[in-house]
Amino acid sequence: MSGDQDAVRREFTGDVHVGGGETAPVELRGAADVYVSADAVAGTLTIFDPEYVFTDVSPGDDRVDSDAVRTVLTGDLEDGYVDRVDGDAIVTEVEDVFVEHGAAEVVSAVGAEQVFHDDAAAPTRSPEDYEVSVSGWERSRSVRDPRDGVSVRGGRNELTVTDARHDLTVYVTGWGNEVRIEGQAVDVTVYVVGRDNRISVGPYVTATMGAESGYDTELESDPLPPEALIERTESEAYDGLLFGRHKVTYQEPADKEWCPNCGERADAVITRHQRDAFFLFGRPVRTYEHGDGAFECEHCTPVAVGPVELTPEERKRILG
Ligand SMILES: [Zn+2]
Repeated sequence: MSGDQDAVRREFTGDVHVGGGETAPVELRGAADVYVSADAVAGTLTIFDPEYVFTDVSPGDDRVDSDAVRTVLTGDLEDGYVDRVDGDAIVTEVEDVFVEHGAAEVVSAVGAEQVFHDDAAAPTRSPEDYEVSVSGWERSRSVRDPRDGVSVRGGRNELTVTDARHDLTVYVTGWGNEVRIEGQAVDVTVYVVGRDNRISVGPYVTATMGAESGYDTELESDPLPPEALIERTESEAYDGLLFGRHKVTYQEPADKEWCPNCGERADAVITRHQRDAFFLFGRPVRTYEHGDGAFECEHCTPVAVGPVELTPEERKRILG
């Protein structure tokens, strides 16, 4: 595919960014992989003879005429990042192309080996508006409690979210990226445009897949630890009982994969104990009654799991 002979030709080495200073229609020629950002192309994007196209914009039939091209960006290129084109764009001599939500009015792929598109759901806000984004190759970033969303674009990047306390959209474009989210009482919705990306979340984070325009996404949740259901340990129950008879209750982790109480398979099974004893300096020296065996798990517990039960240190840190 060649552009018009009168087109301006610009040569680059390495990664190339298309940023909006070029006269449209723009042709990006000879990059390995190309990433097209949300809201990047004001018109139609046509991709000629790619291997795989991963697109969050439904593929259409309109094509950009390659004879109309005004600017050609080429050279000894690695990856291409299309951030802004004020008109139509074409991509040629490329391997894989990743097209984000709302990246162009129309996306068409001519001669693609395969096109991946999943319109099951769309993010409520454009990935361009998220507070945190990582873009490039093998970048790494860590962020605490971001708002609205986080996005990762490119290959083999790592993004870690700690202390998340607000629901999040996670938008991943490209391949081999890793996203880790830890937090409290947070719902995460994941959108993937690409392949072989991994998203993992901590035990108090709920993750659901919004849409996957691609394949081999790993979405994993850590199991809930039994400690999350324990209101009071045995040593906490005995603490301060210097002298006299007391009735105390406490909970312990139970080493079970199924809950004897409700019958569900569970990550966190605990057992409740009661002890009626005579205490001396925080130790039971004579036990009158020791009841145990009441099991519960994360499915049948009356205890609010995780976030509501803050430790005093957490309370101080969060509530100031
Ligand atoms: Zn249960």
